[in-house]
Formats: sequence, C-alpha cells, structure tokens
Amino acid sequence: MIDLHLHTTASDGRSTPAGLVAEVGAAGIDTLAVTDHDTADAVAAVRDAALQRGLTTIAGIEITAIHRGRDVHILGYGFDAADPDLLGFLQAQRRSRRDRLASIVDRLDALGLSIDTPPLAAAVAVESGRAVGRPMVARALVAAGHVPDIATAFDRYLAEGRPAFVPRVGPAPADVIDRLARAGGVASLAHPGKLDDDGLVRKLVDEGLEAIEVYHPDHDEAARARYRALAVSARLLVTGGSDYHGADSGREVALGRIGLPRDDYARLVERLASAASRRHSR
Ligand code: AMP
Ligand code: ZN
Ligand code: FE
Ligand code: FE
Repeated sequence: MIDLHLHTTASDGRSTPAGLVAEVGAAGIDTLAVTDHDTADAVAAVRDAALQRGLTTIAGIEITAIHRGRDVHILGYGFDAADPDLLGFLQAQRRSRRDRLASIVDRLDALGLSIDTPPLAAAVAVESGRAVGRPMVARALVAAGHVPDIATAFDRYLAEGRPAFVPRVGPAPADVIDRLARAGGVASLAHPGKLDDDGLVRKLVDEGLEAIEVYHPDHDEAARARYRALAVSARLLVTGGSDYHGADSGREVALGRIGLPRDDYARLVERLASAASRRHSR
C-alpha cells in the first residue's frame, strides 16, 4: 500500500518519525510521504528510517493557506526540503501558529479554563522546526479535566465559531502553490471534500495546482468518484493517504486502510522527476 498523508510529532501527530515508519511498515505500507503541518522537520528522519526498513519515501508537507477566511490545506511533494526560501516561509507559518495558540490560551483563560501552556508553544517551537496546533490545546484541556476528550474540546471550545476559536492569518493558496513549485515540488489540494467547493478547485487549477487528494478518510465512495472525475477533466494528478495522526489522536485511524493506487503514484513520480530536472536546468 502507498500512503502519502501522514503526521508526526514534528506537528500534531503522536508518533515520532522512527515510530511512524515502524507503524507504517507493520500496516503493510511500502511507500510513504510524511506530511506535517507547515514543517519539513521530520522528512529526513522518516527517509532514513524508511531506508533502513527497505521502504520508499518522497518528501512531503501539508501547508495551511487561507481563502475567504477558511483554512485550505495544500499538500506538497518532492520539493527540496533544504530550499532556503521555502524554509524561511515555513518558519513564518510556524511563528503565526505559535502566536495564534497563545491567543487561544488567553481566551480559554478568560473563560476560566486555565491549562498548562502546551509545551510546544514555548518560544523554542519556531526555531526547532516543530509546528504547534490546536490538538495540543485540546490535549491540555483534557489533561486539566475541563473536557472528557479531544473531540469535545474542539466541539465546545476550539472549532470555528466556538468561544476560544481564534481566526488565522495566512497566505493565499496560490502563494503556497507557487512556493512549492519554486522549491521543485508539486502541490496537491488536501481533502477537497472538507471544503466542498469545486469552484475553488477550478480556480486553484488556474493558479497552478497540479494534483488533488482523492483518497482520504473523509471521502466516501461518492466523493472519491467525484474528485476522480474532476481530476480527469482538469488533468490533475491524484494523491491520497490516511492522514494518520497516531493511534491515540482522537481521530479515526485509517492507517493501512486508505491509500493511493500504484498507477496514480507512478504518474506523480514521473511528474516529480520532470519538476526536479526543470528546476536544476534553470
Ligand atoms: P490547527 O492546525 O491549529 O488549526 O489545528 C487543526 C488540526 O486539528 C487539524 O489538522 C486536525 O489534526 C485537528 N482537528 C481538527 N478538528 C478536530 C477534531 N474535531 N478532533 C480532533 N482533531 C481535530
Ligand atoms: Zn493535523
Ligand atoms: Fe489537513
Ligand atoms: Fe493532514
């Protein structure tokens, strides 16, 4: 099986890079991409651990963009994880994540819900390459006894429209797509079913989007068929994966159950090879 959507402790996943590779291997996956939120910090460690186990990896990331106030997740594959422009951009993304988390913690305080500031929200987070996120706050709310579980933390306080929600500022999707291309990578729209906005997909295709994620746990059979058809008509590559965040992440675990067909992966790899050679010949 091929899984191109996985998270580690470099962002809001629960598995270390080496731990993730062990879990992935045990689940029967032979080809993987780690796609942490706004950081490529785990890419090298995952590649090394995968190499030791005879698994294949490509570089991956899941970057948060904003369109009309909504989060749009853009997956990136095959980019140069040492590209200085991309790294500087990601550092700014992580700084904004850290500032947002601090505002969320302030709001919770004002609601009388004090928590131990999540450890990763400390000043070190940005430079350390680790990206913080709301799941850490959710976990702290559970630990403080304010809510029974992570899902309740989101439902009551952290989800959009709830009292501790803080809107995010961030780049437009086109900016993210462009930055990935300049680092030699290919951009794929993550879980388009969550957005449910085909007009936006068309707009992003005009802006350089090259792929969409068809296989994802949030997509049922009908959604897969719909996005597959859209990929054909818009001439997009297809990506997919489990969006695994760890066994105790409070989310459905689709590891080893949802993956990308080999034909789609072969087309993506072909495209990545030509993206890399064009970049080197510039
Ligand atoms: P952030 O990146 O800080 O906006 O946090 C968003 C992340 O929180 C998503 O990528 C998910 O991993 C996680 N998340 C969002 N909603 C929920 C939920 N209801 N239960 C558990 N995790 C969630
Ligand atoms: Zn996440
Ligand atoms: Fe996502
Ligand atoms: Fe994800």
